[in-house]
Amino acid sequence: MIIGKTLLIISAAYLVLTGIIYFSKRRVNNIENKIYSLMMFVTLCGIILEMCCIYIVPLRDKCFLINSVVNRLFLIYILTWIYLFTAYVFSISFYGSESVNNLKNIKAFKILFILYLVGSIVLLVLPLNYFSDSQYVYSYGLGTNVLYAITTLAIASWIVCLIVNYRKINFKKYSPMFVFIFGAIANMIVRNYNPGILLITVTQSFITIMMFFTIENPDVQMIELLNAAKDQAEKANSAKSDFLSSMSHEIRTPLNAIVGFSNGLVDNDKLDDEAKEDVNNIIMASDSLLELVNGILDISKIEAGKLEIIDTYYSFPKIFDELVLLTKARLGEKPLDFRYSYDKSIPEYLYGDATRVKQVILNLLTNSVKYTNSGFVDFRIHSIIKGDIVRLIVSVEDSGIGIKKENIDKLFGRFERLGVEKDTTVEGTGLGLAITKKLVEMMGGKIVVQSVYGKGSLFTISLDQKIVTGDELEKLKKEESSKEESTSLIDASNKKVLVVDDNNLNLKVAKRLLEPYKCDIELISSGFEALEKITSGEKYDLILLDDMMPKMSGKETFDKLKAIPEFKIPVVALTANAISGMKEEYLKYGFNDYLSKPIEKDELNRVMKKYLS
Ligand code: ADP
Repeated sequence: MIIGKTLLIISAAYLVLTGIIYFSKRRVNNIENKIYSLMMFVTLCGIILEMCCIYIVPLRDKCFLINSVVNRLFLIYILTWIYLFTAYVFSISFYGSESVNNLKNIKAFKILFILYLVGSIVLLVLPLNYFSDSQYVYSYGLGTNVLYAITTLAIASWIVCLIVNYRKINFKKYSPMFVFIFGAIANMIVRNYNPGILLITVTQSFITIMMFFTIENPDVQMIELLNAAKDQAEKANSAKSDFLSSMSHEIRTPLNAIVGFSNGLVDNDKLDDEAKEDVNNIIMASDSLLELVNGILDISKIEAGKLEIIDTYYSFPKIFDELVLLTKARLGEKPLDFRYSYDKSIPEYLYGDATRVKQVILNLLTNSVKYTNSGFVDFRIHSIIKGDIVRLIVSVEDSGIGIKKENIDKLFGRFERLGVEKDTTVEGTGLGLAITKKLVEMMGGKIVVQSVYGKGSLFTISLDQKIVTGDELEKLKKEESSKEESTSLIDASNKKVLVVDDNNLNLKVAKRLLEPYKCDIELISSGFEALEKITSGEKYDLILLDDMMPKMSGKETFDKLKAIPEFKIPVVALTANAISGMKEEYLKYGFNDYLSKPIEKDELNRVMKKYLS
């Protein structure tokens, strides 16, 4: 008896201390914590009740009712504890990290609660016998036996949870369950010999204290700090994307001028050969600068998960020819034997992201030319056709400098330039292969490399593309033939085009590019001027409107123009912001078309033809 009392008092003291620590700490609002808070409270009630059972011994004859109420409440306490612990086992097995707000929506908990209510009523009404002598008070009989049965069923349900969840089990979390089973068995054995010794409350208190260490109770403050750090990192990342986007704009604007002017100069007969060579060098340098800007944009888009693979129908031989032409241009004076071919069984029209397919192959070809000083570059595309899919097997082999074995793994990392000494004249950023690999994987393909240092390398890409058949094929063929007719410039001699751009150089470039169309060109440098012109009744056939202008942007100007009644002139958005999805954004905004800077001749031609012919 003394031992029992002492154990109870120690349990109560520990429980209260644990409770103070637990409740003074901020908790995560999940089901596990909610159940645990209730268990703390219920266990403390249990200890108080059991103490009452012990201390009412002297009162038993005087007040039978108190005796009966306290004993029945004690049974209800045990049932409540078992109910909560079962809910705990369910929660760690299936719903551990769910927010407590979802508790009401979980069916298993609802059923459990109903069973608990039924059990409580049964325990309140069933006949119960009490034993009491000078030392002990305890109950026995049908009520107690039913509680034993319920406890056995509950234990069975925990074991089922354990078996169902066996693969992902965290034994630490289930340890209170094993301790309870052990404690319950010990309790039954002890009671068999001496029904007056109650160990159950002490066992339950011990388990409740133990659970303080086993439940998932992360430091909320720490989580908040981590979340704040995560937010900050995300903000920094989006600041990086914004920076890249504006940098792309800033670099593209002067590039637009360089590319535009130098392209205009190439065809100028007044230039001597030396000057023409210089112009060609300027074009080459600006092309590689553009490539670099695009590379940085690509990698940042890939990292931000914003790069999309946009599948369209395309002509395979056309892409192949373009790749060959571009590679030949890059060969320049290098004494390399450039060999190429493709399987004639590859269908003419395919469905895939043509721009990206071209980009990845071109990257391999450019590298081979760059890193091979003599010998050959061999470019082949083989194919395997299965149903409506063609697997393109692209191989680019060279007799170049090769790659050291230990460097092969690093090849596809960002900014990795291997074996290229610092003072090398070979241009590059180390971004090409990183982008290539990511793009190939995004398109569902694979890239592999074989290389012998000093002898040469072989890069192979395998890519699945859809084959175009039926009506779609007919449509494409028709489109293609109409496109062929349209490469010539149109004569727009009696048309008037208004160009709005705050940058003087850009205006001059636009003028150079528009001159061959023989149209009237008017150049102005702000949206305000554009509005003035339109409201004063000037007539134009087309407006090219830059978006990023100070004071009034192109979009604002466009809104104001649209508000003018009778305004029907097509407006084409001009922007140096080459982030993907921009075109769609401008079209959605209401612009008739979109041209990105540096303005490509073919694109301009398409726009001129669409609106001025
Ligand atoms: P870079 O802009 O430097 O060419 P890449 O990512 O395209 O960047 O290539 C990374 C590195 O891999 C290169 O710097 C070069 O050292 C090596 N490399 C790529 N292709 C070849 C090749 N065909 N032969 C030898 N080395 C190559």
